[in-house]
Amino acid sequence: MGVFNKIRSKFHDDWCSKCYTPMREVNRKLFMLPMMVGHYVSHDKAEYYKKNLVPVEKKADIPTGMYACGVIVYHCSDCSNHVVKLSIFLPVRNQEQYEDAYLFEHGELDDFLKEQGILF
Ligand SMILES: [Zn+2]
Repeated sequence: MGVFNKIRSKFHDDWCSKCYTPMREVNRKLFMLPMMVGHYVSHDKAEYYKKNLVPVEKKADIPTGMYACGVIVYHCSDCSNHVVKLSIFLPVRNQEQYEDAYLFEHGELDDFLKEQGILF
């Protein structure tokens, strides 16, 4: 079963849940999430993202009306824990309309992130 946590607190999502210390951002990458505006459905399982995320170079590569997903990898130097944050948003002109954010704290996305070259 996939373990996930909806963001607990806007201000502490990059804190290590074991040590309660701020973690260091080690990598980030932008993906396209193939869902059109008006047809957004929340998904909280890592499997969905592994199957559907499409890597893009920049926001402009995402077709209008299509969702984006920012992936950030955080690392805790105290306990070597790492956490992956997904932020799903709709790029609207120069703004980002946030829909959902998820933290994966138990390596659920690791194989995918290694394939994508953002986790080593
Ligand atoms: Zn830690």
